[in-house]
Amino acid sequence: MQDEILYCARCGISFLWTQEEQKVAVRHQLTGAPTHCPGCRRLLSPAGRERGQVKWYDPRKQYGFIVRTGHPDIYVHRSGLVDGHLLRPGDLVEFEVITTERGLAADLVQIIASPPH
Ligand SMILES: [Zn+2]
Repeated sequence: MQDEILYCARCGISFLWTQEEQKVAVRHQLTGAPTHCPGCRRLLSPAGRERGQVKWYDPRKQYGFIVRTGHPDIYVHRSGLVDGHLLRPGDLVEFEVITTERGLAADLVQIIASPPH
Protein backbone atom coordinates (compact mmCIF):
# COMPACT_ATOMS: atom_id res chain seq x y z
CA MET A 1 0.00 0.00 0.00
CA GLN A 2 1.16 3.52 -0.73
CA ASP A 3 -0.33 7.01 -0.83
CA GLU A 4 -2.31 7.57 -3.99
CA ILE A 5 -3.17 10.80 -5.75
CA LEU A 6 -6.82 10.91 -6.77
CA TYR A 7 -8.97 13.50 -8.55
CA CYS A 8 -12.27 14.71 -7.18
CA ALA A 9 -15.27 13.80 -9.34
CA ARG A 10 -17.02 17.03 -8.36
CA CYS A 11 -14.46 19.83 -8.29
CA GLY A 12 -11.53 18.18 -10.06
CA ILE A 13 -8.82 18.97 -7.54
CA SER A 14 -6.27 16.33 -6.67
CA PHE A 15 -6.18 14.92 -3.19
CA LEU A 16 -4.17 12.33 -1.39
CA TRP A 17 -5.59 8.97 -0.39
CA THR A 18 -3.18 8.11 2.34
CA GLN A 19 -2.05 4.66 3.42
CA GLU A 20 -3.71 5.36 6.72
CA GLU A 21 -7.09 6.01 5.06
CA GLN A 22 -6.66 2.96 2.87
CA LYS A 23 -6.13 0.81 5.93
CA VAL A 24 -9.29 2.21 7.50
CA ALA A 25 -11.22 1.44 4.29
CA VAL A 26 -9.98 -2.14 4.32
CA ARG A 27 -10.89 -2.54 7.95
CA HIS A 28 -14.44 -1.40 7.16
CA GLN A 29 -14.49 -3.65 4.09
CA LEU A 30 -15.00 -0.73 1.75
CA THR A 31 -13.98 -1.40 -1.82
CA GLY A 32 -12.70 1.21 -4.20
CA ALA A 33 -11.07 4.56 -3.73
CA PRO A 34 -13.00 7.64 -2.60
CA THR A 35 -14.45 9.56 -5.54
CA HIS A 36 -14.60 12.98 -3.88
CA CYS A 37 -12.08 15.21 -2.10
CA PRO A 38 -12.54 15.64 1.66
CA GLY A 39 -14.14 19.09 1.19
CA CYS A 40 -16.76 17.84 -1.25
CA ARG A 41 -17.41 14.76 0.85
CA ARG A 42 -18.36 17.04 3.72
CA LEU A 43 -20.65 19.11 1.51
CA LEU A 44 -22.32 16.10 -0.02
CA SER A 45 -22.97 14.25 3.20
CA PRO A 46 -26.60 14.67 4.22
CA ALA A 47 -27.25 17.13 7.03
CA GLY A 48 -27.94 14.13 9.24
CA ARG A 49 -29.59 14.21 12.58
CA GLU A 50 -27.68 14.15 15.81
CA ARG A 51 -28.55 12.75 19.16
CA GLY A 52 -28.00 14.23 22.56
CA GLN A 53 -29.28 14.45 26.07
CA VAL A 54 -31.08 17.43 27.54
CA LYS A 55 -28.91 19.16 30.11
CA TRP A 56 -31.57 21.58 31.23
CA TYR A 57 -34.58 23.35 29.82
CA ASP A 58 -36.32 26.32 31.39
CA PRO A 59 -40.00 26.45 30.32
CA ARG A 60 -40.27 30.05 31.52
CA LYS A 61 -37.29 31.29 29.53
CA GLN A 62 -38.23 28.88 26.76
CA TYR A 63 -34.76 27.63 26.07
CA GLY A 64 -32.15 25.22 27.32
CA PHE A 65 -29.14 23.17 26.34
CA ILE A 66 -28.49 19.69 24.96
CA VAL A 67 -25.31 17.74 25.68
CA ARG A 68 -23.65 16.17 22.63
CA THR A 69 -20.85 13.66 22.65
CA GLY A 70 -17.69 15.06 21.15
CA HIS A 71 -19.16 18.53 20.62
CA PRO A 72 -19.97 21.50 22.84
CA ASP A 73 -23.43 21.70 24.36
CA ILE A 74 -25.97 23.06 21.94
CA TYR A 75 -28.63 25.72 22.47
CA VAL A 76 -32.25 24.77 22.01
CA HIS A 77 -35.14 27.23 21.80
CA ARG A 78 -38.79 26.38 22.16
CA SER A 79 -39.31 27.11 18.46
CA GLY A 80 -37.03 24.15 17.70
CA LEU A 81 -39.27 21.66 19.47
CA VAL A 82 -41.32 19.71 16.96
CA ASP A 83 -44.27 18.40 18.87
CA GLY A 84 -44.58 21.10 21.48
CA HIS A 85 -43.42 18.83 24.28
CA LEU A 86 -41.33 20.50 26.90
CA LEU A 87 -37.89 19.07 27.41
CA ARG A 88 -36.74 17.73 30.73
CA PRO A 89 -33.22 17.03 31.93
CA GLY A 90 -32.11 13.56 30.86
CA ASP A 91 -34.42 13.30 27.84
CA LEU A 92 -32.74 11.64 24.89
CA VAL A 93 -33.41 13.76 21.83
CA GLU A 94 -32.71 13.74 18.12
CA PHE A 95 -32.28 17.02 16.27
CA GLU A 96 -30.74 18.90 13.38
CA VAL A 97 -28.00 21.42 13.92
CA ILE A 98 -28.68 24.81 12.36
CA THR A 99 -26.71 28.04 12.39
CA THR A 100 -28.51 31.06 13.76
CA GLU A 101 -27.33 34.62 14.28
CA ARG A 102 -26.50 33.63 17.85
CA GLY A 103 -24.55 30.52 16.90
CA LEU A 104 -25.46 26.87 16.59
CA ALA A 105 -28.86 25.71 17.70
CA ALA A 106 -30.85 22.49 17.70
CA ASP A 107 -33.86 22.42 15.39
CA LEU A 108 -36.61 19.90 14.74
CA VAL A 109 -35.98 18.42 18.17
CA GLN A 110 -37.77 15.17 18.88
CA ILE A 111 -37.76 13.25 22.12
CA ILE A 112 -36.59 9.67 21.63
CA ALA A 113 -36.75 8.54 25.22
CA SER A 114 -37.45 10.05 28.60
CA PRO A 115 -36.12 8.80 31.89
CA PRO A 116 -38.79 8.15 34.52
CA HIS A 117 -39.74 11.45 36.15
ZN1 LIG B 1 -13.90 18.21 -4.51
